[in-house]
Amino acid sequence: SHTAIMARSLEIPAVIGLKHITQEVITGDTLLLDGSEGLVVINPSQEQLAYYLDKQQKFQSFRKELYKLKDLPAETRDGYKITLAANIEYSDEINSVKEHGVEGVGLYRTEYLYLNRVTLPTPEEHFLDYRKVAEGVFPYPAIIRTLDLGGDKFYSPLSLAEEINPALGLRAIRFCLNRVDIFKNQLKGILMASHFGKLKIMYPMISGMEELRKANAILEEVKKELQSKGTPFDPQIQVGVTIETPGAAIIADMLAQETDFFSIGTNDLIQYSLAVDRVNEKVAYLYEPAHPAVLRLIKNIIDAAHNADIKVGMCGEMAGEPSFVLILLGLGLDEFSMPPQVIPEFKFLIRSVTLKQAQQIAK
Ligand code: PEP
Ligand code: MG
Repeated sequence: SHTAIMARSLEIPAVIGLKHITQEVITGDTLLLDGSEGLVVINPSQEQLAYYLDKQQKFQSFRKELYKLKDLPAETRDGYKITLAANIEYSDEINSVKEHGVEGVGLYRTEYLYLNRVTLPTPEEHFLDYRKVAEGVFPYPAIIRTLDLGGDKFYSPLSLAEEINPALGLRAIRFCLNRVDIFKNQLKGILMASHFGKLKIMYPMISGMEELRKANAILEEVKKELQSKGTPFDPQIQVGVTIETPGAAIIADMLAQETDFFSIGTNDLIQYSLAVDRVNEKVAYLYEPAHPAVLRLIKNIIDAAHNADIKVGMCGEMAGEPSFVLILLGLGLDEFSMPPQVIPEFKFLIRSVTLKQAQQIAK
């Protein structure tokens, strides 16, 4: 879950779920960590060290080769083009994002702004942060996701009530509709920053039409406030939803009528559709992105979006897993958003197949 996502985004190799390791390791031990295998070796032998040093060098030269593709389009051999965008966790990442050959930010998780502090961010703080992202990624767009608090993400200044089932509780858009003051401050900041680039707004965890309409009504109020003060913002700003509950996936055709784009949040969609807690390693073996139930939901979302003539992206970790790229390409996904460092590998994969091959694999 979030610890792993943060580590990946910071390019820190990580292994989780090691249980007793802190009892087994003492200060001064040499640790060998293989993030791709999920392996930690305590005090490795000379042979093990030599083996992994070689593996590390191969990995680095493989990446160097891939980086040669970074400025080429993400296009199949028969000329079908898709968009590869980046997931970012904090705005300072924007400087390095472009080096990976991305065409936008597909997900800015704004929770970081609420972390490590005792007061809530002001509209001005939101504005300065999103402006940095808008300008940094220009001429490409950036999707700013509104506060997705709760579930596996807990924050300091907002002490949430304890809930028996936090993943099913007052989180994300539900929390924002409950604390309109906090929501409005963020929307204000996003709108103000939209004047400095191409920003889009995305609501997390929408589970029904009513919620979408309520959120949009609040957005309209904020727009009017800014207009009355003469504060400039992009009046055409697009507003989309993260489809990450099975309910939203099933009524995707209805949601598509009142939204400008979709982004599929597979991290939660898988958790909710397969009833597998995303932070519980005991049931991690059931957390299966290519489960037919998940693939059917994804297909339904993509088809509903295309029937309504809107674009559909994916910002869950599944979009950044090389083994699923061909299925998703074949199902018609328009945009893949992922940690920027995997983008060159995706370009390599997409550029080595035809759309038809991908469609056959999806079928
Ligand atoms: C998701 O649920 O797939 C997603 C992108 O959001 P998060 O991981 O932040 O919940
Ligand atoms: Mg989510």
